[in-house]
Amino acid sequence: MRNGHTEESRIGTRSVWGGEDSYLMQHATQVPVVHSVGFGYDDLEQWHEVALGLREGHIYGRNTNPTVHVFEEKVRILEDAEDATSFSTGMAAISNTLFTLLRPGDRVVSLVDTYGGTNKIFSEFLPNFNIEAVLCPTTDHEYIIREVQKGAKILYLESPTNPTLKIVDLKRLTEAAHNAGALVIVDNTFATPINQQPIRLGADLVIHSATKFLGGHADALGGVVCGREDLVRKIYHYREINGATLHPMSAYLLLRGMKTLHLRVRQQSESALRIAQFLQSRDEVDTVYYPGLPTHENHAIAAKQMVQFGGVLSFSLKGGFESVRAFLPHLHYAHLAANLGAVETTAGPPRTTSHVELTQEERQALGIPETLIRYSVGIEDINDLIEDVTQGLEHMRYELQLRP
Ligand SMILES: *Cc1c(COP(=O)(O)O)cnc(C)c1O
Repeated sequence: MRNGHTEESRIGTRSVWGGEDSYLMQHATQVPVVHSVGFGYDDLEQWHEVALGLREGHIYGRNTNPTVHVFEEKVRILEDAEDATSFSTGMAAISNTLFTLLRPGDRVVSLVDTYGGTNKIFSEFLPNFNIEAVLCPTTDHEYIIREVQKGAKILYLESPTNPTLKIVDLKRLTEAAHNAGALVIVDNTFATPINQQPIRLGADLVIHSATKFLGGHADALGGVVCGREDLVRKIYHYREINGATLHPMSAYLLLRGMKTLHLRVRQQSESALRIAQFLQSRDEVDTVYYPGLPTHENHAIAAKQMVQFGGVLSFSLKGGFESVRAFLPHLHYAHLAANLGAVETTAGPPRTTSHVELTQEERQALGIPETLIRYSVGIEDINDLIEDVTQGLEHMRYELQLRP
């Protein structure tokens, strides 16, 4: 059997081989999709030992499954984590993690800019259990550190954030949190392990919506938590009982996607930088939000903790929402859709997608202009994407001039 990967192998090799050696069956070179819910044993002693966790093996599909296990291994290896466990969606990974680790009376410190669903857990669901979530201004490091020092069980971070690509200093905040006795959890969905490895920067746990870049083909939902073994074991136990299990078919699709993770993310990051630079040169565009631009507020922090700057950018158009209406539908190479991280480019206004439930004033308070467009770059030829955005902008200019 192949070794799969070694301690020294580079991240591209790990994307291809990581975890793959575990469950090759009957000489198959590819991981089989094991749909069986039950796993049978003729030997009662052996069954008993597997059930007690004293011996490797599977008992029942809600708990563990061979295909799902390989997916968890691949993520674990890519993030350099001690352990990993998976979930039916990214939100299940986030909520199961928080509900495993928090108790009534605890305090969580996080950012106002976290993913919409995460924000809802903080503002809507945790307070039901007398758990306080303090959402800090995202890039105000002193503010965040002060809140952590007041006492917190968890510091929950994201970087880059959605949709305005803000950056926080993961190393600095992690050190401050650990000094104050708090655990640090980082949602690494936007960066991916190709561009950022929070565990190396000190984080205790890393979470992914595998639905996005890890899978990369927008055809499977999934989530994963990896990091400190003692914590991951507790979170696994919560999930095996509460049941937000990843489906084996989804695990297979995510695994297949991850074999090209490094190729996709490098291309997407390179293209995103090119498009961000191009948009900055255009009259029709008001502001471009991308951590790879030297004009970005926290470009220096991003350059320190990331390899490249990721496949997502956003930009605001001059004028009102009319501009967005005159631009977006004319793109040829972008699904107007709420997902991101796929091989096809997707674009949409946060006003309609991630932040649809907020009022205009609330969006304004978060620094989200009404004319903002989030653009998740696919792996199309970069020249076609730039030509596409160009014709979209020219169409917009033409259409707006026709109006009184
Ligand atoms: C999409 C997303 C999630 C939620 O993941 P689902 O798989 O949709 O449940 C969490 N965090 C970030 C940053 C995301 O983009």
